[in-house]
Amino acid sequence: MGKETRYYDLLGVRPTASSDEIKRGFRRMALKYHPDKNPDAGEKFKQISKAYEVLADNQKRALYDRGGESAVKPGSAGGGCPNSAMPSVFDLVFGRRARAYSQSGRRGKTVAHHLPVSLEDLCNGTTRKLSLQKNIICPKCKGCGARQGAVDKCAKCHGIGVEEQIFEHLPGVVHSIRTVCTECQGQGECVKPQDLCHVCNGRKVTRQKKILTVHIDKGMKGGQKIIFHGEGDQAPGLEPGDVVIVLEQKAHPVFQRKGHNLIMKLEIELADALCGCKQRIRTLDGRTLLVASQPGYVIKPGDVKYILNEGMPVYRSPFEKGNLIIQFQVRFPEPGWIPMENLQQLHTLFPSPTEPITNKVPEEVSLSDFNPHENQKQRCRREVYDEDEEDQPWSQVQCQTS
Ligand SMILES: [Zn+2]
Ligand SMILES: [Zn+2]
Repeated sequence: MGKETRYYDLLGVRPTASSDEIKRGFRRMALKYHPDKNPDAGEKFKQISKAYEVLADNQKRALYDRGGESAVKPGSAGGGCPNSAMPSVFDLVFGRRARAYSQSGRRGKTVAHHLPVSLEDLCNGTTRKLSLQKNIICPKCKGCGARQGAVDKCAKCHGIGVEEQIFEHLPGVVHSIRTVCTECQGQGECVKPQDLCHVCNGRKVTRQKKILTVHIDKGMKGGQKIIFHGEGDQAPGLEPGDVVIVLEQKAHPVFQRKGHNLIMKLEIELADALCGCKQRIRTLDGRTLLVASQPGYVIKPGDVKYILNEGMPVYRSPFEKGNLIIQFQVRFPEPGWIPMENLQQLHTLFPSPTEPITNKVPEEVSLSDFNPHENQKQRCRREVYDEDEEDQPWSQVQCQTS
């Protein structure tokens, strides 16, 4: 039968070897082919590690014996067994590094910038120029950091950028420690100082001022992101990340935004509230609206009205608009605003409530200003309470004075 035995061959053991024999075989081969001792054997060392990873694990070994290498490939049903007897060597030497490169090594960081914008900008749309500093691949050396042909693979780490040290602290127990290569600081390559690129000084990148044109469309919101794909820092072998502009809406002195609606407070005089008002409102797009109520139409304090289609434009559908919601406040005149003789006259103009007919003579009381802090202690004074004789607490209406 053409049973596959390459993994056993790599460790120099027979397919019937015990797990101890496999461990010893790996130790012997790992020390012999380690790149520190044998610089050209990097590939062979990888294969030895892979073979050991499979054969040291009883489940994977059984899969390999049955189906060969294809049965233990990552992604096949038998791969990635969690109970691997000795995963650490492989993980430390190759597996983890390979994963790290594929996860974080492909793309640069995404950078976010906050851009304060006014409500007017979000209503009318605008264009803003934003100046940023970013790394670009050095145009002189095209990102290799040196004169062409002057870059050598680091002799110490063989271009990997990582040093591996294999320790055997007990017979058969092999440990590997990875550190950043001290010779090339993890770059994997060495350049003589005189060969360094004189533009980037060997850094492979240079700083460049970049102007981004940010289009703020009508109806955009605070917190909304505008993404500039690939405008992040460049670095050799990296896909540059994005620049993300996050809009930050500045507070507006008049309008508050709620979805597509705008909300404002409008203070009017008591006379206008009673007799009809004409108020000007300056809109975010610079127009002036005249808000007029019909003569005789009464606006009460706290009344909420709205004007159709005078809110914010809808993003990507700017002809559609929200509403402008107006919360009315009424300014009352100060005490003594009217001469006494006119007061009576004024009073006759207002409708008077029809008083219920009663035989009892009403008790006359006076009104005082209510201060919630002071009045709390002496609220509802005792003697008055006693006069009432009934065990009823004071009602709100009797306590209220203003
Ligand atoms: Zn190195
Ligand atoms: Zn350069």
